[in-house]
Amino acid sequence: MVYIGAHISISEGYEKAVKQAADIERNTMQFFSRNPRGSSAKALNFNDIKRAENLRKELNFGPLVAHAPYVINLASHKENVWHFAKVVMEEDLERLSTAGVSYMVVHPGNHVGKGIEYGIQRTADCLNEVLTEETDVMVLLEGMAGVGTEVGYTFEQLKEIIEKVDYEEKVGVCLDTCHLYCAGYDIRDNLNDVFEEFDEIIGFGRLKAFHINDSKNPLGSRKDRHENIGDGELGIKTFENILNHPKIIDVSLILETPGKVDVYEKEIKLLRSLIKENK
Ligand SMILES: [Zn+2]
Repeated sequence: MVYIGAHISISEGYEKAVKQAADIERNTMQFFSRNPRGSSAKALNFNDIKRAENLRKELNFGPLVAHAPYVINLASHKENVWHFAKVVMEEDLERLSTAGVSYMVVHPGNHVGKGIEYGIQRTADCLNEVLTEETDVMVLLEGMAGVGTEVGYTFEQLKEIIEKVDYEEKVGVCLDTCHLYCAGYDIRDNLNDVFEEFDEIIGFGRLKAFHINDSKNPLGSRKDRHENIGDGELGIKTFENILNHPKIIDVSLILETPGKVDVYEKEIKLLRSLIKENK
């Protein structure tokens, strides 16, 4: 089963969002765990959550994926910044658990000049403060494009963070086609090699979500600008190869392309049309 969805707003509630998603043939979705600028979180509406859960069951909807706000920095050397990231993660994991969300995607952070190794340790330290025996939402570290001082743009860096976390079984990975390509992984011309490398270093068992975006920038550019499917450097063939790859099963594929619902609807139709019958 391949789940396909997009990043959407849940400002009008979970049930409405699931309904909207199903209308355009999505069977998974991603949304911000709170305002992307990180301001305080809205109270949960338990009736809405219950109704959304029922609807998801009815529709055979896949797992829900939340994305942590962009502003938090788990790798920061500044105590107040790092502490804020820790508090947001703790609060949101608890809220997401109540809402029946399976995964929370987070960027590993920026080392801001302190070096990759420092950033890796700091991110792992933060996760070690946040994850407890009770945590039942899996944290997905996102593979980055390597812009500026971003941590986590190689498989080795992601693996190093995971290995430093005590509850490493509660940590998975979210890849992003645009980030992979810009970080130097040639998924356009050498997808099999890249996937083999990923499998050896991290393992597909940890891949729970995959952001599906074309890229405005070329291989290894260390830039992060998403493009609509087929309009960028990757091209439709790349997505066809990914969707039909035998390792891509039980993964939530999430569009984060420029545009709104009408664009997503077209792109989801396009992606579904690329899936071969025997998949
Ligand atoms: Zn992200």
